[in-house]
Amino acid sequence: MDEQPYNNFNPTRCNICFTRNVHNRLTVTGQKLRFCKGCRMIGYCGEQHQKEDWKYHKDFCRSVMRILTTKRVEHILDIRDDSGNIVGSTKRNLECAISLAESMIISMLRRKLHRHEHTLLRFPNICRVCYEYDSSKLKGCEACFQVLYCSEEHRLQDAENHAKWCEMYRVNLLLDADFPEYEDILNFPKLTAFELSTFPKNSFDLVNTAYKTRISSTPKTAEDFKDLKYVSNYSHVGSILYALYTTNMHLELQQSLVIYVVGAEDELLFFDYNICAIIFTYLPQVRDVIVHFIGPQLYNFKEDVELTFKGARTVKMRFHMGLYHTLDANEFLGRPQLVISYNCGFHEYVDSNRESWGTTLARLLRFVNIPIVFTSYTRDEACQDCAIVQRVNKRAAKKRDLVFVKRAAVNPFKDYKPLRNTSYIDERDELYHSNGYISLVITRVP
Ligand SMILES: [Zn+2]
Ligand SMILES: [Zn+2]
Ligand SMILES: [Zn+2]
Ligand SMILES: [Zn+2]
Repeated sequence: MDEQPYNNFNPTRCNICFTRNVHNRLTVTGQKLRFCKGCRMIGYCGEQHQKEDWKYHKDFCRSVMRILTTKRVEHILDIRDDSGNIVGSTKRNLECAISLAESMIISMLRRKLHRHEHTLLRFPNICRVCYEYDSSKLKGCEACFQVLYCSEEHRLQDAENHAKWCEMYRVNLLLDADFPEYEDILNFPKLTAFELSTFPKNSFDLVNTAYKTRISSTPKTAEDFKDLKYVSNYSHVGSILYALYTTNMHLELQQSLVIYVVGAEDELLFFDYNICAIIFTYLPQVRDVIVHFIGPQLYNFKEDVELTFKGARTVKMRFHMGLYHTLDANEFLGRPQLVISYNCGFHEYVDSNRESWGTTLARLLRFVNIPIVFTSYTRDEACQDCAIVQRVNKRAAKKRDLVFVKRAAVNPFKDYKPLRNTSYIDERDELYHSNGYISLVITRVP
């Protein structure tokens, strides 16, 4: 079965309408949805689209219906635990109910959930305050249409909190998942064309200054949404420049710049010609950049990539499949001027046998006076990631001082596409960003 017939599936709209007509995305807001009578979880604009979607929905729907029948409940969130208590009645319990339902569905289907099924389960259409699921009572926030309430009373109760997130929800609902097209974008910016004395505040500022555009951070038109994605692609390079400027390393650099991207996956996508041009714009003395992408997931990248720019400047990209600390010692990469790990997840497998960051970090921390940068999705994760770096350094045989130049700070060069957090308990980041938080450490010899 085709796994992803949808363009950025979202449970609070008819996804057939959105996917078919992504250019008219603004018209999908405020749709009156009719919910599937079987699972009561997915909504459509009408019968026609529900019928068309059935082939993608039926497996999921039938397993939900089986659960409802065997458990004698009306909705999957009403599943009771062994002592007969409704599971999904508090924030923590809501997550338990969802996880329970998820494991039941997976065992019935004997397969992993497709991404849209996972999204349907993780973000059910319920009242944000009391978790009411009766769709006839639910009304969406009129600005973002993503958050639902059973009553005016509950809307008001959540108003203050929701105001912080509403715009991000709105953008999340209306963004499509296509990669932005570049064809009409821009030549290599002239190095002398703009003011280098002030480093840009954020990715918007970076792109707008470099290309003399006026891209807005609150997109209104379909064109604005495309621009937002375009700006977001500068997050990876922007974070590198930000780290170099924050540490004043940009002044110390000479002709060559060696960067290690550790735990690399598909970051190459964010190092295309236009994006790399920005490096030379902000580091005019640099002529040769070598980026070593290092990580066990780099199956699809083998051949080196070399980009040539005006004035015989080059960016070379090399790929090393494997964990950094297991790389062949003969594979000499050259001493880096910067090490970066995007959305690092240092904390993810800590204390489990899948843990591998400890050894890699211990090696990397041996590069004294070199900025080691790592980004994280949420603040919670960023704090855990920092704690791990600190712990690894403490355990090192040779004592080095660890200086946190940035510690779990909001990254002005984050990817501005908002994503919904599957954790209901994490109230600090109801939505989050790729490269959302940035940390920067330097080790010094005491
Ligand atoms: Zn529709
Ligand atoms: Zn259904
Ligand atoms: Zn309610
Ligand atoms: Zn809203």
